[in-house]
Amino acid sequence: TRRILIAGNWKMNTRRAGAVELAKGIVAGVGDEPSVDVALCPPSVYLTVVADAVAGTPIGLGAQNLYAADDGAFTGEVNASMLTDVGCRYVILGHSERRAIMGETDQQISEKLHAALAGNLIPIVCVGETLEDRESGSTEKVVETQLRGSLDGLDDARAAGVVIAYEPVWAIGTGKTASPAQAEEVHAFIRKLLGELFGDDVAGQMRIQYGGSVKPGNAKELLGQPNIDGALVGGASLKVEDFMGIINPA
Ligand code: 13P
Repeated sequence: TRRILIAGNWKMNTRRAGAVELAKGIVAGVGDEPSVDVALCPPSVYLTVVADAVAGTPIGLGAQNLYAADDGAFTGEVNASMLTDVGCRYVILGHSERRAIMGETDQQISEKLHAALAGNLIPIVCVGETLEDRESGSTEKVVETQLRGSLDGLDDARAAGVVIAYEPVWAIGTGKTASPAQAEEVHAFIRKLLGELFGDDVAGQMRIQYGGSVKPGNAKELLGQPNIDGALVGGASLKVEDFMGIINPA
């Protein structure tokens, strides 16, 4: 059975004091033995202070990106070894904002995936279609292309530990959540494709998170779908009350 993973993607938000306060509030809310896995992904400059806030708790620390190279002349970049050095367990890769704004390609994302795994980080690989893709009926084709490209060269033995996040671009930050049925349909498709790539046994162990306007009010129904194994939360991860309402949906 797959353990639910609720991850907060803080994106480019918070300042030091607010980041620490938010992390401490979530630590207090989550307690010692949560029934789900919880991860916080602050901006990279605040990883260390959030690491201190979650130290000795069940909450995992995650980064929002990495650069797939060993130390060297890569101004402005941070590698997997640095992320584990400051206490990261997870790293988000190929978020749609990075694909759209920074022009990240599936090929680059697969290089990041291999760097993350080599560095003992749990990758959260993001895929998802735009509104245009959905309206033209190409959701499955787009998601399949992203997955095949981003997971290129991944071997079966390592695949089980990789997390996929399905985030329809039209649902991100828009308040328009995919309906549980819409999300489940794509999650089931992703699981089938993972089965073709890595075998059904491995695919059955891989966690597939949903992301896109997840809130306390819709979390329970989304997380109740058979192929939805967690949530990657943006806006609602920036308030203790909202994020806790997703971790423990009423
Ligand atoms: P929102 O929850 O703000 O829609 O963001 C989703 C997301 O992009 C998480 O990575």
